[in-house]
Amino acid sequence: MPWKWYDSKVVRIEDESPATKRFWLEVEGETAIPFEAGQFVTMDLPIHDKRLKRWRSYSIANAPNHDNILEFCIVNMNGGGATRYFFEEVALGTPIRFKGPDGNFVLHEPFDRDLVFICTGTGIAPFRSMIQDIALHEKPHRNIHLIFGTRNTDGILYRNEFEALQKTLPGFRYSVALSREASFNPSDFPFEVQNGYVHPIYLRDYQTPRSDVDFYICGWSNMIDEAVANLILKLGYEKSQVHYELYG
Ligand SMILES: Cc1cc2nc3c(=O)[nH]c(=O)nc-3n(C[C@H](O)[C@H](O)[C@H](O)COP(=O)(O)OP(=O)(O)OC[C@H]3O[C@@H](n4cnc5c(N)ncnc54)[C@H](O)[C@@H]3O)c2cc1C
Repeated sequence: MPWKWYDSKVVRIEDESPATKRFWLEVEGETAIPFEAGQFVTMDLPIHDKRLKRWRSYSIANAPNHDNILEFCIVNMNGGGATRYFFEEVALGTPIRFKGPDGNFVLHEPFDRDLVFICTGTGIAPFRSMIQDIALHEKPHRNIHLIFGTRNTDGILYRNEFEALQKTLPGFRYSVALSREASFNPSDFPFEVQNGYVHPIYLRDYQTPRSDVDFYICGWSNMIDEAVANLILKLGYEKSQVHYELYG
């Protein structure tokens, strides 16, 4: 799908966690923005004189639904130029220019294999789009296992939505890894919650390699490097079964 430059303005902002906000952009002069779930756009933000130093990419967090509103889920990286702009300056009505959609981190129909989505923090964004796309458009699929990692319970993004999908989306399973929550009772949660990182969860559930499962991983390099090495080198999955989107 070819990309082009779009002019948009911010039409809604919501806190999603203490360090994360959701932003909705309405694209001007278009009735629909064609994209595939999992793709990203690159925004030209007024944070530097040099063009390339102004560009930052963000995954589209909502499903393609034939309208001109795109949702983004952005974490405040302390000291970061773009996130300082988003958290301190962007307000309702702020214009944002972006190009896209871009990227090959997408699912290919028919979904005839199990899907395992592994992410930390705002790495949830492309999976939120994919899962919403499957649920909203009732796309046939097999099992979907979302494994999400964050530090504390207040960092669990889209929690209510995924909690609800466990009941309504056939084959959907939700596991959360909390790396810095001092103490919690797993039975307080209607989904699986574990102490630690995301890795022990897929190492436990997918330890015997099989050809009918695909892994999709999204987030920052430390987590992705470890997950890719675990799946391919430790467990013996084929490279073609392991897909990832690197945020930085
Ligand atoms: C395809 C793609 C999609 C993306 N989608 C999203 C998204 O949906 N949501 C989102 O929040 N971000 C997303 N990002 C990351 C985003 O593009 C920016 O990099 C991020 O917002 C930080 O930009 P910044 O200007 O604030 O920070 P920068 O000025 O670029 O970076 C400075 C800050 O980032 C920290 N930092 C840099 N690298 C790392 C790292 N590997 N691990 C931890 N800290 C690091 C530094 O310590 C510093 O505080 C995506 C990136 C790509 C490539």
